[in-house]
Amino acid sequence: MQDSLLTLDRRDIPQKWYNVQADLPTPLDPPLHPGTMEPITMADMERIFPANLLEQEMSVQRWFDIPEEVLDVLSLWRPTPLIRARRLEKVLGTPAQIWYKYEGVSPAGSHKTNTSVAQAWFNKQAGIKRLATETGAGQWGCALAFACQTFGLECQVYMVRVSYNQKPYRRSMMQLWDAKVDASPSELTEFGRKIRAEHPDTNGSLGIAISEAVEDALTHPDTKYALGSVLNHVALHQTVIGLETKEAFKRAGIKPDILIGCAGGGSNFAGFVFPFAADKIAGEADYRIIAVEPAACPTLTQGEYRYDFGDTAGSTPLMKMHTLGHDFMPPGIHAGGLRYHGMSQLVSSLYNDNVIEATAVQQNAVFEAAVMFSRSEGIIPAPESSHAIRTAIDEALRAKENNEPKVIAFCLSGHGFLDLASYDAYLAGKLEDIDPAMATKSDE
Ligand SMILES: *Cc1c(COP(=O)(O)O)cnc(C)c1O
Repeated sequence: MQDSLLTLDRRDIPQKWYNVQADLPTPLDPPLHPGTMEPITMADMERIFPANLLEQEMSVQRWFDIPEEVLDVLSLWRPTPLIRARRLEKVLGTPAQIWYKYEGVSPAGSHKTNTSVAQAWFNKQAGIKRLATETGAGQWGCALAFACQTFGLECQVYMVRVSYNQKPYRRSMMQLWDAKVDASPSELTEFGRKIRAEHPDTNGSLGIAISEAVEDALTHPDTKYALGSVLNHVALHQTVIGLETKEAFKRAGIKPDILIGCAGGGSNFAGFVFPFAADKIAGEADYRIIAVEPAACPTLTQGEYRYDFGDTAGSTPLMKMHTLGHDFMPPGIHAGGLRYHGMSQLVSSLYNDNVIEATAVQQNAVFEAAVMFSRSEGIIPAPESSHAIRTAIDEALRAKENNEPKVIAFCLSGHGFLDLASYDAYLAGKLEDIDPAMATKSDE
């Protein structure tokens, strides 16, 4: 019998990150300064990010060495397993092979630690003592808290107030890893105090929390800001996922046909597929590469490709990307990590050049797939990751209809142990699907 688990050795962890900017069919347009609308300078960017990460952000160099100390921490959970979902294949009765790369084995339970560890290390190298960030559902805050604690940096997390109150266990994780966590809007920043004075009962929002974290970085010496998705250097750090997958498939003599990832800001998708996209751009392979987004926040499938701000307040640089508009308020779907109005510039560019495709799925269909997966494979997936499972199942069923033995691989970006309230809501029949025609209209 063919293997069901492809494992690599610790010494097989990739030694370099892959930068798809070297191979883009169309180079990226530069980020713009929000005040002047002119291309932003390094000096402006260095107020919130260290120069070493900005170099990765802007560079078209194809490979970047992964520092030894970063590899050492990654090796706590990497290489991650690449598993064949044989029992799911059987339930579906498909001739297709379904493989998943499981990132839920990391300390914080998702792929986000791949970049938090790198970001903390490069900030430390730059002499930074403290990082400020925002977190919505809490996954990024946990990942950064772990990384800061590992390298002896202080960590300040602005957690959207509604999650702070509803997700106490994510807050506990951050505090256990020694981060300081405050509900946003907070009393710690001028912007937070202003919002609290005007709207004492606000639930907060990711946009407000970003504005607070950026203000914190601008007003404290030795403090920088860290972001868990969207940016080019974040996608770069995530390429360990795809590089490991490619190597493991190569050793097993397996050639994938379809590669799938869920896309919020685009980082786990980018990390999983970019090393394969490189072959496709070079004309050496013709994979289908599919980004899966929620029907309630259809950034690629319904958004416009244009310059937009990264935050709600309109204070960050503008980036050319697929966007639903920076004032877009997604309806309350349960995959908190996929509720971003914009998309990685790199993913947007590859979509625009037809290297990748995208699809949008409804949340009840997503949870149906998640339950099917947990009952056959045993892992309870994060609701975000379950978007990829939905599309993997749909492709496996299509392969069955056409009697094609396709090889399908998807990124299982995290586990769902701290998302059980969403599963409760699904099992109780309380989740609502979104009318696609209404999805891009604000529901505020
Ligand atoms: C944050 C998160 C996502 C979405 O972020 P991307 O940058 O699009 O990868 C997906 N899955 C999990 C488990 C997450 O925590």
